[in-house]
Amino acid sequence: MTPPGISPRRFEEALHAFGAAIGDGNVFAAEDDRIAYSDHYSADETRQMPSAALAPASVEEVQAVVRVANEYRVPLWPISRGKNFGYGGAAPALRGSVVLDLSRMKRIAVDEENGTVLLEPGVGFFDLYDHLQDNDIPLWLSVPGNSWGSVAGNALDRGLGYTPYGDHSARICGLEVVLPDGGLVRTGMGAMAGGKTWQLYRHGYGPSWDAMFCQSNFGIVTKLGLWLMSAPETVVGVDLEFDQPDDLGWVVDTVAPLRRDGVIQQSPSMGSWLRSAAVLTTRDEWTDDPGPLGDSVIGAIRDRFGIGWWSLQLRCYGPREMTRAALDVIKRAFNARPVLAMKEARWERGDSPEGSPLTGVPVSFPLANANWHGGRGGHIGYSPVLPPKGDLAIEQFRRTHALYQRYGFDYHGSFAMGERSLTNVNQVLFDRDDRDMMRRMDAFFRALVADARAQGYGEYRTHIEYMDLVASTYDFNDGALRRLNEKVKDALDPNGIIAPGKNGIWPAALRDQAHEA
Ligand SMILES: Cc1cc2nc3c(=O)[nH]c(=O)nc-3n(C[C@H](O)[C@H](O)[C@H](O)COP(=O)(O)OP(=O)(O)OC[C@H]3O[C@@H](n4cnc5c(N)ncnc54)[C@H](O)[C@@H]3O)c2cc1C
Repeated sequence: MTPPGISPRRFEEALHAFGAAIGDGNVFAAEDDRIAYSDHYSADETRQMPSAALAPASVEEVQAVVRVANEYRVPLWPISRGKNFGYGGAAPALRGSVVLDLSRMKRIAVDEENGTVLLEPGVGFFDLYDHLQDNDIPLWLSVPGNSWGSVAGNALDRGLGYTPYGDHSARICGLEVVLPDGGLVRTGMGAMAGGKTWQLYRHGYGPSWDAMFCQSNFGIVTKLGLWLMSAPETVVGVDLEFDQPDDLGWVVDTVAPLRRDGVIQQSPSMGSWLRSAAVLTTRDEWTDDPGPLGDSVIGAIRDRFGIGWWSLQLRCYGPREMTRAALDVIKRAFNARPVLAMKEARWERGDSPEGSPLTGVPVSFPLANANWHGGRGGHIGYSPVLPPKGDLAIEQFRRTHALYQRYGFDYHGSFAMGERSLTNVNQVLFDRDDRDMMRRMDAFFRALVADARAQGYGEYRTHIEYMDLVASTYDFNDGALRRLNEKVKDALDPNGIIAPGKNGIWPAALRDQAHEA
């Protein structure tokens, strides 16, 4: 396999040139390598299979790779650790691109006093957690439900965690970026050689560029500054269960003002009964019926795990006096409401860490939900953003639930409550070996995107297969945003070598590859 438009002989030459730049042992172009860097959650791993992968170890090597890529017109798909499961894993949007695997770049520099870290893309959540623990640094990180990935990669894709620092891209402070022409830039206060406030002041002087390198293909991030939270004195909260699907509405209306006003500092996620069941059991333990799960099965699952139709965990972080007062306000808000169960949770400095993303502890056990259907499992993420209003949340739930039923999937939705938005995170679980299910999956996903668009909602992030489809829903003024993105792309990357197709942004030469829209 070769990148589009490149002959096998020319690609062979390019691979030699890459080998000369980073060492032949760091060029991976065998069949097994291509499979390793494909999307293991895809119905057909060959659809977005890369032609090879390269693993540079330093910023100078990244620059050298980019220069070779320009010479041979080889498209590069940068990944930090490539664990973007549900959104494409390590695989590129454009089949035949060469994956640029930055996972060997693993430097960590923590500023303990100011609560910041400057890290390279290969640093995983477990690496950073271990670094903080091993060195007794009283800072906490925020981790996603699958913490196998990279701190930088997740933030660059605008990933979410569950502590007050859970909006990861919002905590970025200063980047180092290799531009598509091989040049090197530092953003914000890092633009000053020897500057002392790179990780401390976000805006810099003049335009701010950090956000431009999130969910884009305008450069390769080789260092990322991030703010970390001070280890709090206490974490207190409540684990809440709700009996009825429609409880979603009043719960959203109860939590939204508390979240907006900062009484609740993290973005809590209200998840349905399948969230626990799919991680801890498989579907065939509950039923042989391939049709929609009925109330009796749902009831049995809820009984086994002692959960409601929805579960919600709220946490407050900080000094004892403050968290106690915040918890009182939260409990008052839920007072006299139809809460099925409420259990208090409490952690104090000195206790052994609660092994959960709520306390910034990385976990990988949620990956087990891929086993729900049996076979070679996987899921696809579908995550439209809504206003934080209860009636709209209920309507969203009813419409999507009906679509789940129509296309024959088990409802697996949750609602993440941001400061002024509500993200309906769905992990649509499937069995990749079930061809009929995978055919239905594609039609289902397209129906979900169309449904959100009709309501005026867009996805915050999507799978590589659907990046054009979702980009096409951002259609104000006949797609003005897409045209702006393309102008910037063509100016910075005239050879179109960085991540063609990422988030629906194609370089001029490949624009006909935009297979959707
Ligand atoms: C069970 C389960 C639960 C999950 N829970 C969550 C969750 O709670 N929150 C969440 O956010 N996600 C979640 N995910 C999705 C995903 O697994 C994580 O977001 C994961 O952290 C992404 O992988 P990564 O960090 O290795 O990033 P990567 O795969 O390395 O990067 C993601 C994308 O960002 C871009 N990129 C990466 N590095 C660079 C760079 N250096 N320069 C330029 N562009 C770059 C690339 O386009 C890349 O494809 C979950 C997935 C599963 C399976």
